[in-house]
Amino acid sequence: MIAQTCFVSPKFLYAGMNMPASCRSSLRSTFVILAFFSCAIGARAADKVIVLKAARLFDGKSKTLAQNGVVIVQGNKIVDAGSNLPAPPDAQVIDLGDATLSPGFMDGHTHLTLDFSGNYNERRLKEVDLNVSEQAIIATRHARATVEAGFTTVRDLGSRFVGSKEFVDIALRNSINKGVIVGPRMLVATFGIGATGGHFDPTSGFRDMLFGREPDYSEGIADGPDAIRKAVRFEVKNGADVIKAAVSGGVLSLADEVDTPQLTPAEMAALVDESHRLRKKVAVHCHGDQAAKEAIEAGVDSIEHGSFMKPETLTLMKNKGTYLTPTLMATEWIMSKIDNYPPALQGKAKAAGAARSEMFRNAVKMGVKISFGTDAAVFPHGQNAKEFKLMVDLGMAPIDALTSATGTTAELFGIAQKTGTLQKGKLADVIAMPGDPTADITVTERVSFVMKEGKIIRNGPPSAQPVAVSADPEPEFPAD
Ligand SMILES: [Zn+2]
Repeated sequence: MIAQTCFVSPKFLYAGMNMPASCRSSLRSTFVILAFFSCAIGARAADKVIVLKAARLFDGKSKTLAQNGVVIVQGNKIVDAGSNLPAPPDAQVIDLGDATLSPGFMDGHTHLTLDFSGNYNERRLKEVDLNVSEQAIIATRHARATVEAGFTTVRDLGSRFVGSKEFVDIALRNSINKGVIVGPRMLVATFGIGATGGHFDPTSGFRDMLFGREPDYSEGIADGPDAIRKAVRFEVKNGADVIKAAVSGGVLSLADEVDTPQLTPAEMAALVDESHRLRKKVAVHCHGDQAAKEAIEAGVDSIEHGSFMKPETLTLMKNKGTYLTPTLMATEWIMSKIDNYPPALQGKAKAAGAARSEMFRNAVKMGVKISFGTDAAVFPHGQNAKEFKLMVDLGMAPIDALTSATGTTAELFGIAQKTGTLQKGKLADVIAMPGDPTADITVTERVSFVMKEGKIIRNGPPSAQPVAVSADPEPEFPAD
């Protein structure tokens, strides 16, 4: 067990290489002691067994809930999960009572670094007022709110600040991974890729040349297949896990129509080819039907929004195995706060909102693969679970909505081998919600327990104060 949990950080060893030999040898013995000590801590942490019990259990893939649910956790992994499992002796038992255990939820479409939920023009002004570093600090609260709501993994589909080339989403992901801040596991897209004047052009709607230049590939703006390839390569070089692009117009952009195609088939082919060669999946923002058809033909992995897709396009998706991420919450929020948006955007929102309900009903009936995704940032972070009720109201069975947010979305993310279901050997991302979500899907909005990789982030009400970050059992750099 120690051999498995111990490893010597190459970065730490490298730090000693410029020192005199005597120093190196004393550093080495100090390091051996520190390494032994940190491994001993790791082994102790790994030995601790936590047993989670609740009246019901959803495993992330079955069509029914199991009764008397038990999840046994050791270290960061699930040792076993099922009904009426006996607790090993000396285990810490946490009995959550009349609740349902579930794999941590996954949101396939967030923007944790941003917040568009208030007045549209006030937000635009604030974005150019605030330093990006301040906006990054604010984003840490979004991350916390999201994981405390039970979303232990998100795919963060685009982060940009007008006039800036900062990779705030990369910084957020890395800080979460290192235990510096609390948040969900993030797969990040960096800048969404799109055409000049398209949905992702950050300078659209501002006076010509206000920022002194046209944005380029280094902010995700690219025209022509070669420029698209360069943008993909630049993003992967800087740490993107997934590639996002806008292939049609959008609702919250000022210089385009909501459903016009914005990339050519040749550009989409280059986008998909380059991303897949680099083993990155492609998620495309798309409302329009023509753009969706062309993107599905090009081989994208998921269509985000998809508001105007016709049944023939949904058939094409089903045949190609393309996922749909419906983001019903986005249009729902905008429609409920329509006065917050300029008139030009109100018209686009109404058209997309009117079309998307029928599109979603058709997708459910036809058995298109539906990944769970909300577009959090359009509405306040932490309200992601409200998407469940919208899905159920439009014809999806509650158990299928739960599967969408766990097992299915894990498959889209390409991480189903590691997480997304409550099964032996998977990472211990476990949440609990009160009551029975198949009887009342809104209990997903009242998650009361969150564990991520075996660490308890929340057990009871959400933190008003920052929650403590558990010490990493294997710190990359030993403390002084
Ligand atoms: Zn979005």
